[in-house]
Amino acid sequence: MITIKWLGQAGICLQTGKGTTILIDPYLTETISKGYRPFIHARLMPPVLVIEEIPRIDAVLYTHDHMDHMDPNTVTRILWHSDAVITASSYVCRESLEKKIHVPEARLHPLDPGESMDLPGIRITAVYANHCPGAVGYLLASEGKTLYFCGDTQLFYDMKIIGETHQIDCAFLCFNGQEGNMDISSAVQAAKILGAGCVVPVHYGMYADNSVDPGLFELALKKACPQIRFMQLEPGREYQI
Ligand SMILES: [Zn+2]
Repeated sequence: MITIKWLGQAGICLQTGKGTTILIDPYLTETISKGYRPFIHARLMPPVLVIEEIPRIDAVLYTHDHMDHMDPNTVTRILWHSDAVITASSYVCRESLEKKIHVPEARLHPLDPGESMDLPGIRITAVYANHCPGAVGYLLASEGKTLYFCGDTQLFYDMKIIGETHQIDCAFLCFNGQEGNMDISSAVQAAKILGAGCVVPVHYGMYADNSVDPGLFELALKKACPQIRFMQLEPGREYQI
């Protein structure tokens, strides 16, 4: 059984039945609202996870280096608290994690599209994303299930190949339609060409100016692809897949 917890925005905490714990794009501080862009980006959803309270973190996967995904303060806390391997594309590892956040090279495990890394009970594969330099998505295969995290991305046709070469049980999709991300109709099309069994909406509810009601996504998906399950997550609550 895979256990997942939504951390807000595109953040997910995932634990395999073997206890391997992986964080994806955890934004767990007030970095943006308190310092980087005060007042413009007040955080609407409080952090639901305290890094220091997680007994073990095996890997942290970053889809790209925008601060609502790769927050320097969260990265630093993870480095201090755990032995987690930090993964992103080689470009993001070099240009952001090493040069700007000063993550030691020994802690990094770059993954470019098509490359995989195995941890106990889970295989992590980076895939293309159409967003910014070095952006990637991830496929996580564990216990006979495959989960797809698109990261921030526009719709791209290779999603069809991802869907044809993998049985996607669950696709975690952005749908906010801003700043280089799919809008609802693109996200519905993505779910369709991926052949996803289930869609989990992410990347909403954090900032007033960059959020779309997931209910609208659900309605559009139900209309276009009634066979695909829509699974909206409550932040901080555990779900099993
Ligand atoms: Zn984003």
